[in-house]
Amino acid sequence: MKYVLVTGGVVSGLGKGVTASSIGLLLQACGLRVTSIKIDPYLNTDAGTMSPFEHGEVFVLDDGGEADLDLGNYERFLDITLTRDNNITTGKIYQSVIDKERKGDYLGKTVQVVPHITDAIQAWIERVAHVPVDGKEGPADVCVIELGGTIGDIESMPFIEALGQFSYNVGPGNFCLVHVSLVPVLSVVGEQKTKPTQHSVKGLRSLGLTPNILACRSTKALEDNVKTKLSQFCHVPEENIVTLYDVPNIWHVPLLLRDQKVHEAILKELNLLGKAVEADVTEWTARTRVYDTLEDPVRIAMVGKYTGLSDSYLSVLKALLHASVACHKKLVVEWVAASDLEEITAQEAPDVHNAAWDLLKGADGILVPGGFGDRGVQGKILATKYARENQVPFLGICLGMQLAVVEFARSVLGCEDANSTEFEPETSSPCVIFMPEGSTTHMGGTMRLGSRRTYFQVADCKSAKLYGNVKSVDERHRHRYEVNPDMISEIENAGLSFVGKDETGRRMEIVELPTHPYFVGVQFHPEFKSRPGKPSALFLGLIAAASGCLESVLETGGKMNRVSTNGIANGMGRVYQNGNVYSNGNGFHH
Ligand code: GLN
Repeated sequence: MKYVLVTGGVVSGLGKGVTASSIGLLLQACGLRVTSIKIDPYLNTDAGTMSPFEHGEVFVLDDGGEADLDLGNYERFLDITLTRDNNITTGKIYQSVIDKERKGDYLGKTVQVVPHITDAIQAWIERVAHVPVDGKEGPADVCVIELGGTIGDIESMPFIEALGQFSYNVGPGNFCLVHVSLVPVLSVVGEQKTKPTQHSVKGLRSLGLTPNILACRSTKALEDNVKTKLSQFCHVPEENIVTLYDVPNIWHVPLLLRDQKVHEAILKELNLLGKAVEADVTEWTARTRVYDTLEDPVRIAMVGKYTGLSDSYLSVLKALLHASVACHKKLVVEWVAASDLEEITAQEAPDVHNAAWDLLKGADGILVPGGFGDRGVQGKILATKYARENQVPFLGICLGMQLAVVEFARSVLGCEDANSTEFEPETSSPCVIFMPEGSTTHMGGTMRLGSRRTYFQVADCKSAKLYGNVKSVDERHRHRYEVNPDMISEIENAGLSFVGKDETGRRMEIVELPTHPYFVGVQFHPEFKSRPGKPSALFLGLIAAASGCLESVLETGGKMNRVSTNGIANGMGRVYQNGNVYSNGNGFHH
């Protein structure tokens, strides 16, 4: 097993995760099998308890692990399936050491950060790196490890110490350190400044780690004299210093690294030149070119809690993007704060209310994503009603699906009081109820998490066709509430169809309105399994319906015909949010 460690210096938010996944992708392009580990030096055991509006979304894995969103980047770029153990946190490491201490495994010794915590970190990395994640047998060739945070943080110290020992233990030729740093440009003189990078490398070296490759974020390519200076001060050969300059979107990053031959430097460091083949990024390049040149917009209204951090819905945005690129449409995401659609906003701030409704009404498709808590619930219900009554393509995910059922029960069945017991425990029409897999009395550990199977109940429905006419699909879940099985026949008699259920037939997984052009709700989160070249079926359905090509997609069993890229005019090809460049123009923020 060979290891590539990616660290970050100077400031956070340099795009370390994207750089690390791009390195993995390039190594894959050289014919190697790649796995990855993300280290988060925070004390939380996992991201499950962290607010998506502060920290970005909680990414759910097949095994039910609730992980940092960077694991999503790895899964998407490398098309792999990671486990909860691929996300190491300080909390997990300390918990494992303390559990051992309580069992008496340390035989009366004083338990310390060095060697006990550092040994536990190393043992964890080695064990997890050997678990195959690409569906093939046996361990991968290379494990890319990303250390979260910035060199010098107190939190990351035990990890740095452990990784220093680890690099020594695995020996030269098996370990390559890529340090991602910042080279700022002072606007007055336009000079590229190397001092911050010098300092962060010095910090790294003082902790026992020497970078083999420097990846410098800067607005433009590094000038030759800047590279020379960095090389002298940081003891990294000039050919191993690359610039991550600003690009239109993150799909360019692997290509940027390839152009600067980063893969060759890494392969040389890891003695893999003999095993690797010439990097083949033909498909990736073609898809990136399509993305770059899209002009024809498809407007999707995202009706959620909106706090300005688009990372809160990162996988949903990516899934929308994958589907849009497959349909050759430029994705325009209109963020609609659900509460702005509500009557109370009409009274308190009529302009805000009108603007929100204008955005919703101008959209080609409406998406209500998952969520917890009752803020904006009424607004989401109003958006769903609008989509249902006006034949606007609609996808409701998890809470979005539950509310679609509530809305239908209220408007069509006439149960005005219909609600989810999450929001109204005493409702007389509980159409969504608490249905944990384990105990119904204990909240802790009652979330239905990870991959579960959905069986199609009818072959002739849009979802089954979009999934390629299979009998069942496995998708990821994260919820406690579900559609009340005792109300199904009443709801179905009124025209809403539960086309996908679990193996017991008691849990509703997919709901469709057959009389509507595209009205689909899912209890699971299809966004987590969407990939750039393999868009998620139901997102593809939404985008296709929103751009008027659903029929042809359904005919091909959920596949998009590859359209030639010739003749598409050269545009800027970015994802826009309410008219702003989603990628900040630098393409690095996920
Ligand atoms: N709050 C709902 C539940 O727990 C929906 C969760 C979600 O959307 N992920 O069932």
